[in-house]
Amino acid sequence: MTTTRKPSTGRPAPEPPLVPTPRPEAPRDCPLCPRLVAYRRDNAAAHPDWFNAPVPSFGTENARLLIVGLAPGVQGANRTGRPFTGDFAGDLLYSTLLDFGFAKGTYAARADDGLELVDAMITNAVRCVPPQNKPTPAEAKTCLGFLTARMTALPRLKAVLALGRIAHDAALSARGLRRSSAAFGHGAAHDIGGGLRLFDSYHCSRYNTNTRRLTEEMFRSVFADVRKFLD
Ligand code: URA
Repeated sequence: MTTTRKPSTGRPAPEPPLVPTPRPEAPRDCPLCPRLVAYRRDNAAAHPDWFNAPVPSFGTENARLLIVGLAPGVQGANRTGRPFTGDFAGDLLYSTLLDFGFAKGTYAARADDGLELVDAMITNAVRCVPPQNKPTPAEAKTCLGFLTARMTALPRLKAVLALGRIAHDAALSARGLRRSSAAFGHGAAHDIGGGLRLFDSYHCSRYNTNTRRLTEEMFRSVFADVRKFLD
């Protein structure tokens, strides 16, 4: 066999194009959203003992269930470094996960409480804490690469539980689907291709539970659907 080489031009070989490698977790110093970076830095200056970085997903790589929240709360997940941990919404989420066998141990609102997820992982559509708990549509779009990679990296994934419309839209986009392909609705479930089923719930936020838009029974009923689907 003969090998042909291009004649050398004397110039250095061109750099490969800068295609970002999709990865499931954002680096601590993720620079992608200027507003969120600025907020993160302000929080770090005011509370240097807090986590103050993109909050990594929590759970097992063998998960068949991926729960997608919205974004870390400033004094909750942004402080503790674990999704929903220390956030009001985490009290209902973790107690329900424990009841349905998706977690074991004790939830004590601290990242070192020893709680383990079983067959499940929790992530957020937006990994950094946003001001007023509200990510912009552009920030949700920018962060989508991490969710897409997160979903792809779970080899046994079967069910995605979206907490709220933004998480629902992000899960559809991560599968390359249009929003119009599946309307968000509490208790609704949709096939989203790749053998995945998307379950919807209203977000278990303080506002939704205080106004009883979401009751504990309503939340448990979605988990019962997910459990039935997986079993
Ligand atoms: N904490 C999170 O990590 N995500 C949410 O969606 C709400 C609170």
